[in-house]
Amino acid sequence: MIIAMDGPSGSGKSSAAKGVARTLGYRYLDTGAMYRAFTWWMLERGVDVEDAAAVASRAGQVIVEISTDPDAPGIRVDGTDVSEPIRTREVTGAVSAVSRVPEVRARLLVLQREIMEDGGIVAEGRDIGTVVAPDAPLKVFLTASEEARALRRAKEIGTVSVETTLADQARRDRLDSTRATAPMTKADDAVEIDSSELGLDEVIEAIVRLAKE
Ligand code: C5P
Repeated sequence: MIIAMDGPSGSGKSSAAKGVARTLGYRYLDTGAMYRAFTWWMLERGVDVEDAAAVASRAGQVIVEISTDPDAPGIRVDGTDVSEPIRTREVTGAVSAVSRVPEVRARLLVLQREIMEDGGIVAEGRDIGTVVAPDAPLKVFLTASEEARALRRAKEIGTVSVETTLADQARRDRLDSTRATAPMTKADDAVEIDSSELGLDEVIEAIVRLAKE
């Protein structure tokens, strides 16, 4: 069984996906972390991320290894643990420019499908239900109001205001949902869950219930 979980930034996808994986004894795949790792690599090497051709020409050189243990998520690039540096504001601000590049998406798609091949996994991202695993028996599109999402993100980060987070988030969602390749969109057969008024446990419970149906 593959559970596909998509949705915009700050919708609570990661916490919910990890919780569902733990409850069901499944593995967990954070595809956003893979795009962030590619972005970190490009920035480290001084690649201009706005230059799609430059990003495309380097995409084949990045070696990413990701943990699928929901209790010990982590990611390495060329052997370096980048689990923390991929969460900086710099990477977050640059990731949509990198993830729109078809060569980057093609490489990560192969890797993601390889990891998901054996099933028993909750995969979260923006295009899992539409592109990576269109046959997944359960697809969830997790949303929340812009305000609820920005509040959550600002709390997580701790050092950035809600206003700034709201602006950053709106920009990223716009870029992610309007790019030409695999834009973020709800799959026709996905169940939409609005988490604005729900606690994390309630979201996890709702998804686990759907998985058991
Ligand atoms: O989920 P997270 O916020 O970590 O994702 C970071 C970025 O990676 C997104 O803003 C998007 O640009 C990209 N992404 C994507 N497709 C996915 C997962 C993430 O394009 N399946």
